[in-house]
Amino acid sequence: MKAAKGLINWIKTGINEVTSAIDAEREARINGHTARVEAEVGRVKQGFVFEDAVKKFEISTGDRPVVAERVYRRFLARTWTDLSLTDREAELLNWAAGCLGIPAGKVSQLNQEAAADAFRQVLAAALVDNQINDTEAGHLAQIAARCGCTVPTMMATFFQQEGEALIRSAFTQYTSDGKLERDEWKQFLQTVEQLGVPRDKMLHAIRLPARQLIEHVLADARSDDEISEREEKVLASLLSNLIDDTAFASYVRDQIAETKWKADIAKGRLPSIDAPLEAALRAGEITHYAGPVRYVRTRELSGGTKTEELDGLAVITDTRFILSATDKSFQISHRKILGHKLSPAGLEIRSDGKGTGTYSFPADHDKAVTIWRVAIGRANQTIVETGTNNTRHISREVRQRVWQRYGGRCAECGAGEYLEFDHIVPVAKGGSNSDSNVQLLCRKCNLKKSDNI
Ligand SMILES: [Zn+2]
Repeated sequence: MKAAKGLINWIKTGINEVTSAIDAEREARINGHTARVEAEVGRVKQGFVFEDAVKKFEISTGDRPVVAERVYRRFLARTWTDLSLTDREAELLNWAAGCLGIPAGKVSQLNQEAAADAFRQVLAAALVDNQINDTEAGHLAQIAARCGCTVPTMMATFFQQEGEALIRSAFTQYTSDGKLERDEWKQFLQTVEQLGVPRDKMLHAIRLPARQLIEHVLADARSDDEISEREEKVLASLLSNLIDDTAFASYVRDQIAETKWKADIAKGRLPSIDAPLEAALRAGEITHYAGPVRYVRTRELSGGTKTEELDGLAVITDTRFILSATDKSFQISHRKILGHKLSPAGLEIRSDGKGTGTYSFPADHDKAVTIWRVAIGRANQTIVETGTNNTRHISREVRQRVWQRYGGRCAECGAGEYLEFDHIVPVAKGGSNSDSNVQLLCRKCNLKKSDNI
């Protein structure tokens, strides 16, 4: 509630009377006149004539319009103390404005300001619970009608920024637990509608918290390295309801797709694709991956460091890796690979034949590397990763607290994207699934870390 309260207090302070306190002496004189004229109206009532009061209190020509305006403002304030205006009160105000000789344009400006002030107070009270019920909406509409407005027009004229801030604050309240229940969403939409904020403005207002919510749901869903059908449905619905940015939506869809193929591969289901024409495959050989590759090998020779670089096409099959470049081609049987290790530069391969060096795949690095490693493991019957490991499961409560602790940002670099729940001490090395051993890392930092462990 913190954010909402601050905002509401701020709204409650209202539109302050604009006083130019340049001349304190004049200010005191005008205040005196204002009080005397007000008392005079109270005394003579319908018989009040401003001209008579001006003479009686010796109000100068320069002070006269200012006094008239102040008196009128006092009437307005008193009339609106109950946050509503009856027809009778409106009539009286109209009469007073006429008596005081205030120009029509000024009168309507002051009337609007007073109505806006009342509107602001009702709005602040209504939004204490982050929603607007029908009674509150009715009250707001009544006030708006007093200056010939509707609630949406009032919001757009006087409260555009406040409206957006309120919507954002309401949304943040609803989603602070990392999910958005159907009822919460319904209430939120109702409030948005009562305020007459159009959908595009609403989406703009909640842009940041909506992204944070989706990042949170995504990281939660991926914490078991799988995305269930239900989780995918929730994410799809959040995307279609909350996001108007296609780039962000496709980033999320890519993440979902990636998590799914990774889960498939982890379960031993390597994709099987058509081999590219360039690759001369043996009968019965299955192609798992084909795409561009960059190969780098650095060697310390007696004459100094020698670096070999090659760009070409990679084909990964069930038995081997094939690299075809214009001036050079080679292949490595999975069985000839002595060791492999992930580094920020790519997959480092040690082979007892050709092909020792570092490989990176510009089109789909993660996928190619994962497929190759699994294929190597299979060919050598040393697959280490098998499906979901329940001992790594981090409970929803822990995930929620960890997310809060890091404010939805990477513990290392502060990034807000590609977030993953990470075991500080890996489970394989005895690390637990409790708060103190779980942190939030972005993929980049997580990769860097696994390289160092
Ligand atoms: Zn990071």
